[in-house]
Amino acid sequence: MIKIAFYDTKEYDKPSFERYGAPRDMQFRFLETKLNEDTAELAKGCEAVCVFVNDTVNAAVIEKLYAFGVKLIALRSAGYNNVDVRAAFGKIHVVHVPAYSPYAVAEHAIALLLTSVRRIHKAYNRTREFNFSLNGLTGFDFHGKTVGVIGTGKIGRIFIDICRGFGMRVIAYDAFPAKDSGIEYVTLEQLFAQSDIISLHCPLTDETRHMIGAEAIAKMKKGVVIVNTSRGGLIDAEALLEGIKARKVGAACLDVYEEEADIFFEDRSGHILNDDLLSRLISMPNVIVTSHQAFLTEEALNNIAETTVNNILSYFTNDGICDNELCYRCGNIERCKKERKERCF
Ligand code: NAD
Repeated sequence: MIKIAFYDTKEYDKPSFERYGAPRDMQFRFLETKLNEDTAELAKGCEAVCVFVNDTVNAAVIEKLYAFGVKLIALRSAGYNNVDVRAAFGKIHVVHVPAYSPYAVAEHAIALLLTSVRRIHKAYNRTREFNFSLNGLTGFDFHGKTVGVIGTGKIGRIFIDICRGFGMRVIAYDAFPAKDSGIEYVTLEQLFAQSDIISLHCPLTDETRHMIGAEAIAKMKKGVVIVNTSRGGLIDAEALLEGIKARKVGAACLDVYEEEADIFFEDRSGHILNDDLLSRLISMPNVIVTSHQAFLTEEALNNIAETTVNNILSYFTNDGICDNELCYRCGNIERCKKERKERCF
């Protein structure tokens, strides 16, 4: 029996993990709390921890988990910016779910975009009140517009395919452009200057943090629509708010927010929101916020559970070799140079 402390559990997590884990002799200790220095202790007696995007897995937490005998950190997400992989090296192995449904995220980005541009959220509220007026609901055609995609990995490429279906011109920026992909790559400056819509699909790193800030917004077209389904830290939210107030940014569709960790995923209605910046953004008529929901489809939840269970099983039964280990030693965290033939350490 492999015991796993499962942090930040939500009701929708349990069925798929129990379905895949129970037949494989896994026992999940479902914990509602997030992982941090204070709650690491709850993993005592477990061989692994399973964590999500807003759990804190810094050096201090890793030290504690290591002292309790935890051998594996299994992320049930693709992004791993919340894990200090360097601090884990030599102590605890780290695995993630590289892809579970890139369609879920790309389709959510499109859903936000269509909702915003065609004012569906406003129309929905109006007709519920039998207000059938169309004033203020004018949108614009996607057809013929230029969309700038930052990050052309799994999600970005699906987003690009969907945009092409609308008849949009697609330009893209990626630090590692894909060869022979048929994608028109441009510099970031060109992307900012030419795009009617900008959608973010790159990871959050030291390099990409606040890549959309005051300077970038100044280079964009007036009325640009910015979509972020990637990570909140990619956007300097204060600069975005200023851009909206200055009528430079036409609309923002945000599934993620830099300070989301203590806010998103919970029902906070009936409470005073202590984040003035988020409150102000939400109060804007041209901002749509969803609370990190882009991944939330049946298919994605099943794939996340299946891959995470397989990751855990590989680690404990396959001499620690797992395709999805985040290999710090290689210096190429996701694309292990040892081709997964041996452990990271
Ligand atoms: P991916 O690894 O397949 O693609 C990421 C792309 O970004 C790669 O092509 C990479 O070369 C590029 N990139 C790396 N550094 C860059 C930089 N400095 N500038 C520009 N591009 C850069 O990842 P993916 O599966 O497509 O996921 C993209 C992101 O989406 C993840 O990092 C994650 O943060 C986010 N995500 C969000 C949700 C959600 O529910 N909102 C769910 C899954 C993933």
